[in-house]
Amino acid sequence: MKYQAPRGTHDQIPPGSVAWKRLQTVADRVFPLYGMLPLETPVFEHTDLFTRSLGEETDIVSKEMYTFQDRKGRSLTLRPEGTASAVRAYLQGRLGEQGFDRFYYFGPMFRYERPQAGRTRQFYQIGVELFGDAGPSSDVEVIESLHRFCHELGLRGLVVQLNSVGCPECRGRYVATLKSQLAGCTDDLCELCRHRLNRNPLRILDCKKAACRERYQSLPLLTSHLCGPCQEHFQGVQAGLTSMEVPFRLEPWLVRGLDYYTRTAFEVTSEHLGAQDALGGGGRYDLLVEQFGGPPTPAVGFAAGVERLLMVLEKTAPEPASPHERSVYAAALGDRAAAEVMGLSRRLRDAGIPCLVDTGPGSLKKKLKLSSKLGCRATLIVGDDEVEARRVLVKDMGTGEQELIDLEGVVNCLKEKA
Ligand code: AMP
Repeated sequence: MKYQAPRGTHDQIPPGSVAWKRLQTVADRVFPLYGMLPLETPVFEHTDLFTRSLGEETDIVSKEMYTFQDRKGRSLTLRPEGTASAVRAYLQGRLGEQGFDRFYYFGPMFRYERPQAGRTRQFYQIGVELFGDAGPSSDVEVIESLHRFCHELGLRGLVVQLNSVGCPECRGRYVATLKSQLAGCTDDLCELCRHRLNRNPLRILDCKKAACRERYQSLPLLTSHLCGPCQEHFQGVQAGLTSMEVPFRLEPWLVRGLDYYTRTAFEVTSEHLGAQDALGGGGRYDLLVEQFGGPPTPAVGFAAGVERLLMVLEKTAPEPASPHERSVYAAALGDRAAAEVMGLSRRLRDAGIPCLVDTGPGSLKKKLKLSSKLGCRATLIVGDDEVEARRVLVKDMGTGEQELIDLEGVVNCLKEKA
């Protein structure tokens, strides 16, 4: 083969692409239940949009962005996440003024990461953003919508990990405490933590290294440093999730990778994913709209990784063996039969029955073999004799039974069996 897809990318090809499409269909059913409307933004944006909002010191901005200059020398970046673009579109389209304040999106994101299982350089996210409501109920709605979406997909036993990262005031006080408590012992920390302690201190808390984790066990918790209003909000979110029957666990070490988060931070993980175990995550970003030049507008959202959702689904709720299990295979033997089969296929599709037409050359045996290989539920066979008798031979590919059915009645008969 001359060409391969670039490292860290992959094609969505059958049979997996069927589950992929089904996921989008479930999203199109679930998120509108919350009044969320679809939002599509360009896959590239001005680089500034991301550097300013995500934070210069974040992994994404410091080493993972696909940034390039266009022919006029403008710096553009393939979007590494969806929230910054959603906020831009919300403001640029003056959506808030029209009362549109809740959205969902589905699209590719790009990060230059080291590819491994569950981590690629182009991946898809499905995300949700809610603008304008500062109360804990909108956090609960966002989290509950992710929970419902996963449930409708067929995922079970997921638990939401929940934390609060406070507001700039109480978080600032906490970071000062953190720094002073670690001041004398930075030599014990890993290199990354030492770097982060100066540049992005909160991120040390989610270091995966055992030695660092142990050292941090004795540190005070961020949640015990929350100011009154942040504490009250956090309690409200917990009470809301409990009453909506969304299982959650407090995870005091959870801090999200990006600078823009305030108060609620959450993640959904799965034990079926190995090292890259996060299915999705999100939180509140009450200051971002204003930072983009808009009016003060609280907001909350999440993004989930489509490939990871599909990986878990594959392990826990396998798709049917054949993507064609609802289809019938309509095989014509000869030219007269071909015209008949074309007419029949039209009527089948009118009735909502997927139909694969085979009017090509080849023996009956060959056509039956193909139908069986594709996993179609039935094969319809029309030859000269059948055209003459106005009948179709219908072979049930599951039981192997054959039956001659009136050409006029075949659609109803297949519909009943569907
Ligand atoms: P993040 O925006 O980093 O919080 O990511 C949200 C979700 O997107 C994660 O929980 C993953 O499911 C997915 N995700 C993030 N980065 C990647 C990647 N490089 N490859 C595949 N999925 C990813």
